[in-house]
Amino acid sequence: MTSDSEARLRAVSLRVTRPRLAVMAALRDHPHVDTDTVIALVRGDLPTVSHQAVYDVLRALTDAGLVRRIQPAGATARYEMRVRDNHHHVVCRSCGTIADVDCSVGNAPCLIASDDHGFVIDEAEVVYWGTCPTCVTKRSEGS
Ligand SMILES: [Zn+2]
Ligand SMILES: [Zn+2]
Repeated sequence: MTSDSEARLRAVSLRVTRPRLAVMAALRDHPHVDTDTVIALVRGDLPTVSHQAVYDVLRALTDAGLVRRIQPAGATARYEMRVRDNHHHVVCRSCGTIADVDCSVGNAPCLIASDDHGFVIDEAEVVYWGTCPTCVTKRSEGS
């Protein structure tokens, strides 16, 4: 049986390896996690995998377009498996929680630049900043 992850790796001519499959499985279950979290999750499957191996896998998967790397200002880089759909992110200023937000009007780029400077624009990256429900609740309970 060929898993979806194996098919994706083959589609971009990357060799199917256990660390690559483990990283993809971790990101599928836990979108928007940072490198340290990916390492911890992968070690649940492959206890002996090194930091460097996970860094290398993340770089290879990102370069191949299988994984999307996002880095909101002031935050560490996060990774996710949801790629190529130009979705955006909402980030909590208090705890750093990130959630997906679909394109404003459905198709990339979902925002039309007021002046495109002659560029052919294919993506609009938007970060919505705010306070997540958990932090809003904590704040109102605390004061
Ligand atoms: Zn929060
Ligand atoms: Zn996302």
